[in-house]
Amino acid sequence: MTEDQNGGSAQVLILGAGPAGLLLGNLLHREGIDCVILERAGRATLADRARAGYLAPDTVRTLQRHGLAEGLSRGGSSHGSCEFRTEDGRFRLDYDQLGRGEAHTVYPQQQLVADLLDTYLAAGGRIAFDTEALAVHGTDTDAPTVTARAAEGRPVRWQGRYVAACDGRHGAGRRALGPTVRHHRRDHGVSWLALLAEAPPSLDAVGYAVHPHGFAGHMARTDRITRYYLQCEPGTDPAAWPQERIWAELSLRLQADRYGPLHQGPITQRGVVALESDVVEPLRQGSLLLAGDAASLISPSAAKGANLAVLAAELLAAALADDLLRGDPSGLDHYSERCLAHIWRAQEFSRWMIRLLHPERDPFQERLRRARLDSLRTSRADQDWFAQHYVGL
Ligand code: FAD
Repeated sequence: MTEDQNGGSAQVLILGAGPAGLLLGNLLHREGIDCVILERAGRATLADRARAGYLAPDTVRTLQRHGLAEGLSRGGSSHGSCEFRTEDGRFRLDYDQLGRGEAHTVYPQQQLVADLLDTYLAAGGRIAFDTEALAVHGTDTDAPTVTARAAEGRPVRWQGRYVAACDGRHGAGRRALGPTVRHHRRDHGVSWLALLAEAPPSLDAVGYAVHPHGFAGHMARTDRITRYYLQCEPGTDPAAWPQERIWAELSLRLQADRYGPLHQGPITQRGVVALESDVVEPLRQGSLLLAGDAASLISPSAAKGANLAVLAAELLAAALADDLLRGDPSGLDHYSERCLAHIWRAQEFSRWMIRLLHPERDPFQERLRRARLDSLRTSRADQDWFAQHYVGL
């Protein structure tokens, strides 16, 4: 590599333009804090990357509080029911009538990302697309740097006062962590074939099916697009699942013969997601701070990842503003602890969902799983508890 060219400098170097990095960028820029986002992908890729869809009420309130909810107010829809289908029948929980009485807002993540990006750019925010952060240096100093590969492979070096790693689990932020940082990892031993179908939702609820063949999930995205999940063997090649096999298996596990056929259409995205947890502790190493999936990967079983990313970005923005504008470092000192309290509660509920939704090989564990599901079906107290955690953070 030739000598690094000077990319520039900013008080906060933000790595990654997902929900975490873009919300952070918007909030810092609005406070007048000089920041830049370094993003590996191009703009078109960001607007096209379909992942999450279920936004918690706290996430919506956060975005509303900062005037960033216009798109989701217009294009999002409220969802407050889920339906469980098992060999013993089906039952529905209207969770917007239980617990705190709140619903999700369904709004595709790529649209949220596009909204946040548009607002950031319109306000004059700086972002370098097609720029991959390779390494973070000097996190034990007040002048950390980021070396990056810009467009056409050009090596660049950026300098800042803080680096906010919002670049996911495999990003440069995590690679810069030293041995004093703990990594809590758990492979839940379950994989999902994650699918997007160009077809309207088949249920007016989130669908969770537990079948001897494994779990199947149904989640609305828009009135024309539906996300489906099929539990599959870890290491499955998605190519082994042609469309006909996917629809046959979804219909079987969701018991379409009993409860009505699925609206079928072309499968436009298929990938295998291993259900894993991976939490970094603490979320700060000197001038490097982690947020979103870079801080904590969570399985999509309870739809918490994007919501945690928004929560962390808001906490981090406030802490950075206190430090940089008012000389008060206490928010940054407590950022990790505050954020991790939410992360671990979400991890716990997510794991509970995994244990609820996947048939167990061990007969004893399987009986316990069924008992858990039965309690959810019959106990109002359990339903209130579920609703509170399902929409809460
Ligand atoms: P990301 O969205 O991953 O953004 C990170 C950004 O960093 C990316 O733009 C990437 O290109 C960039 N980047 C990576 N490496 C570098 C680098 N070295 N240099 C520069 N840039 C880099 N969550 C929910 O809350 N609800 C759901 O319903 C839900 N469903 C999901 C379904 C699926 C199939 C999957 C995979 C995830 C789902 N999630 C869901 C999780 C959610 O999508 C993530 O938790 C969320 O995207 C995390 O946001 P983030 O900003 O931390 O990271």
